Amino acid sequence: SAEIIDGKKIAQSMREQLKERIANLQGVTPGLAVVLIGDNQASQTYVSMKQKACENLGIYSRLIRMPESVSESDLLSTINELNEDSTIHGILVQLPLPAHIDETSVIEAIIPAKDVDGFHPINVGRLQTGGEAFYPCTPNGIMKMLEYQGIDLTGKHAVVVGRSNIVGKPMGQLLLKESATVTYCHSKTADLKAHTKQADIVVAAAGIHNLITAEHIKEGAVVIDVGMNRDSEGKLCGDADYDSCKAKASAITPVPGGVGPMTITMLLFNTVESAERFSKVK
Ligand code: NAD
Repeated sequence: SAEIIDGKKIAQSMREQLKERIANLQGVTPGLAVVLIGDNQASQTYVSMKQKACENLGIYSRLIRMPESVSESDLLSTINELNEDSTIHGILVQLPLPAHIDETSVIEAIIPAKDVDGFHPINVGRLQTGGEAFYPCTPNGIMKMLEYQGIDLTGKHAVVVGRSNIVGKPMGQLLLKESATVTYCHSKTADLKAHTKQADIVVAAAGIHNLITAEHIKEGAVVIDVGMNRDSEGKLCGDADYDSCKAKASAITPVPGGVGPMTITMLLFNTVESAERFSKVK
């Protein structure tokens, strides 16, 4: 039976390290601005989790709420003010945005040095070509988990299921950086199982409950489950059939308590990192 990768525990230990880094900032308080538009329930929940995590660590968090009807130009000028605000080191615009606002323009309005989500094309590009960058929180959190578990990626075959800009694509890039051989699967992949069965590491990020079963993995594979779905009873569950995969894998992340806690931790990590860069501690 697989070792269970405890995301909560790893996140907690990373947060302790961040506390020390904040203490070393000599009076500078890292600041995160979160822009929340409209009243999407899930977005509100995510934002309040992020704010609470900031408070617990001594990171200043500022919530800017705007109505669903906000104009794109008002949103862009708010972002510009935050770009100029020296008390703010990270800016995050909670997605999704209302349909009348162009997501690309909003993401590109945030200066790359404060883009702690790692979605700006400069940061996306630097993930590929090198240089100082912020990496997207979910895949970067997964990398930290794998490192913490002592899972060596060199020469391993990693199969990433999903190709979104926030999870799948950057996940593959980060794995490649650590010298894994990377395969991407997605909704148009002809034979998903044929690929995942070959993987030493499967990262499931499709958002489909039970997409990955024991039949999809080889004996001893590492299964990283990014999915956040609801089962028929409304319970939070991942993309992997947890019980059957656990019996066959060498290590697996649970849902909840796996990737989720790492994602928020990496947002804190990027914010602290940004404060260090701005105050030249680093
Ligand atoms: P998305 O909907 O943008 O992307 C899903 C991807 O899965 C797409 O690239 C699509 O091609 C692929 N896909 C869809 N059906 C497939 C199939 N049958 N076979 C193979 N691939 C298929 O979603 P996302 O934003 O990348 O998120 C993916 C999942 O991860 C969601 O469940 C989301 O809630 C969850 N998520 C969790 C965290 C966390 O912190 N735990 C963070 C972000 C996203």
